[in-house]
Amino acid sequence: MITSLLIANRGEIASRIIRTARDLGIKTIAVASPQDRQALYTSQSDHTVILPDGPAAANYLNQDEIIASAIQYGAEAIHPGYGFLSENAEFAQAVVDAGLIFVGPPAKVIAQMGQKDRAKKIMAENGVPVVPGYLGDNQDSDNLAMEAEKIGFPVLIKAVSGGGGKGMRRVDDPADFRIALASAQREASASFGDARVLIEKYIQTPRHIEVQILSDHFGHHLHLFERDCSLQRRHQKVIEEAPAPNMPESVRQAMTEAALHAARAIGYQNAGTVEFIADATNGLTVDGFWFMEMNTRLQVEHPVTEAVTGIDLVKAQLEIASNLPLSFSQDDITLKGHAVETRLYAEDPAADFRPTPGKMQAIIFPTATGLRIDSGVQSGDTISSSYDPMIAKIITHQATRELAFRQSATHLGHILSIGTKTNQDFLQRLCELQCKDSTVSTGLIAERQAELTTLENPRPKAVLAAAIVLMVQQKIQYLGWRQWGDATIPFSFMLADQTETIDCHILLSAAQQIQFQMGEACLDCADFSITSLPSGVQILRAIVDGEAFSAQILTYGPYLCISSENRLLRLKKAEKSAETHTSQASNEICAPMSAVVREVHVKRGQKVTAEQRLVSVEAMKMEYPLLAPFAGTVEEIKCLPGDNVSEAQYLIRLSPDESKDSSDG
Ligand code: ADP
Ligand code: ADP
Ligand code: MG
Repeated sequence: MITSLLIANRGEIASRIIRTARDLGIKTIAVASPQDRQALYTSQSDHTVILPDGPAAANYLNQDEIIASAIQYGAEAIHPGYGFLSENAEFAQAVVDAGLIFVGPPAKVIAQMGQKDRAKKIMAENGVPVVPGYLGDNQDSDNLAMEAEKIGFPVLIKAVSGGGGKGMRRVDDPADFRIALASAQREASASFGDARVLIEKYIQTPRHIEVQILSDHFGHHLHLFERDCSLQRRHQKVIEEAPAPNMPESVRQAMTEAALHAARAIGYQNAGTVEFIADATNGLTVDGFWFMEMNTRLQVEHPVTEAVTGIDLVKAQLEIASNLPLSFSQDDITLKGHAVETRLYAEDPAADFRPTPGKMQAIIFPTATGLRIDSGVQSGDTISSSYDPMIAKIITHQATRELAFRQSATHLGHILSIGTKTNQDFLQRLCELQCKDSTVSTGLIAERQAELTTLENPRPKAVLAAAIVLMVQQKIQYLGWRQWGDATIPFSFMLADQTETIDCHILLSAAQQIQFQMGEACLDCADFSITSLPSGVQILRAIVDGEAFSAQILTYGPYLCISSENRLLRLKKAEKSAETHTSQASNEICAPMSAVVREVHVKRGQKVTAEQRLVSVEAMKMEYPLLAPFAGTVEEIKCLPGDNVSEAQYLIRLSPDESKDSSDG
């Protein structure tokens, strides 16, 4: 087994690889661009090499620097992760030429599968069904238009060197073909430095189903069943699951056999994925799926396969790369339960999934059995526009598909974050939809876009939770005021990314007894308590309208993220929020708790304005100001600095200003 490994990647996948390497006692060397210097994964590796600043070409794609770093730090092998150099045949060869091990297939195999047209030709020659289409070298636009006619519309134009859904255009109408072609060519040229395209028949009711392969250096090829990755936006996966829903055993057999056939045909080595597109118009059938492409690397969604098979794919990759034979056989690999991965992205689903790079001030993930979170981001990190905007992968594993999706929806409702916008609510709704209906297709997200992205009205209970947390933060008013009987505390919030405000108020009667009003809604709340967790999350518990209620609240500056009733609410405290006003304010200002009077700020007979500081008291090493509840005149002062006063002891009497009495209600 190798004893040291350089990971030529960043973010969650670098963390993921480091985790298994450490379990195996392998020394790890990470690489990072200067902007990733503080990233989570750099704290998990044994060493981190800081690569030159600049675009990816200067660091994560800088082959010479990466290989030189591996040699300098004594790494025996390089794991490329996914993306970046993972499917770069030239790099794989350069690693071997430098006397190191490339954790992946031989360069020749990468080269064969790296170009979609070449891969399809090889597969077709080996009897693997491929999507009908044009793979020719004649890239003349008249010729391509003619080939598209022959295939029959709708067609899909694809970049020969494409990946990540780029350089791909669906064309339904022959009249639109040339414009779409030019646009695909431009995107392909800009993204991959290769404008060549191929044309495929656009498969109706498409489902993306892929088979995980493991092949060692001794000619053993195994499959680890399939993953369904049909839930996509912009031809890119957002939710993946294993096994595929509604998959007849006969189709599973045929598809895994086709994938193994493909692996054998090209002499595959290490972990790889054979992607198929299936026509699900009449359900899945043995002759209704076609080879799309092969990814010669670890896949983003590999954790769902790990969950249902119990096999650590990174461990298998490292063993294979170390020239060890596969330690299990096909019969040892069985499917257990159902796993779902949701990809949490910094992106705005309502704005066509536009990436939303920016700072993540705070992010707290839940922990639970059956839940795995692969995250590359921690509180305070900035999601850079230089890289893929994925924040984390949330993986659940349960006995059934419905339970796995339900658990995903629940956990998505409990990731508390403050910072840049994410697709969290969208993912949660998509999971809820999947609990009820297991029909998937790559068009589903686009079809249900409106329903998946429309904002829900804030729930009064969640706003109540926010108001209580703010009220308790401003301890003095609420503690002091309840001595005087009823008081009204108004709050004003803004919904995240919106301009309209939510006005609401708390009516304070007795200790731990409040009434909350927000528009038409009126809630009775009793016996509330707040517990602070080490993570900074506060848990509110209360009896609301006679029922037990709890919420988790994360605050950061004026921002609040509230999780309750399996929903998230993001609020911002509006400027004038949480000022206190009494309805029937008593004239007597009392000590809110046992305390020492530190200062008396006013004199007898002095005119004061509402909110003016009258007295400062100290308790538990904290100073609390006592403010004037209304404008008026100081009638009497019953305390001196240094006095020990007890809770509810009367300290100052005010008489209200008659003229101001009706100024606010
Ligand atoms: P996978 O097939 O592993 O699930 P995707 O299909 O989402 O991953 O993306 C394919 C590859 O392209 C991945 O290796 C991913 O890192 C990379 N990728 C994804 N999005 C982008 C992007 N916007 N730009 C460049 N590469 C990307
Ligand atoms: P990439 O390299 O970007 O992953 P793929 O060839 O794997 O490109 O295709 C990406 C996605 O585009 C697929 O997952 C599928 O949703 C869609 N797609 C690809 N080919 C077809 C096709 N012939 N018909 C319908 N949809 C397709
Ligand atoms: Mg693909």
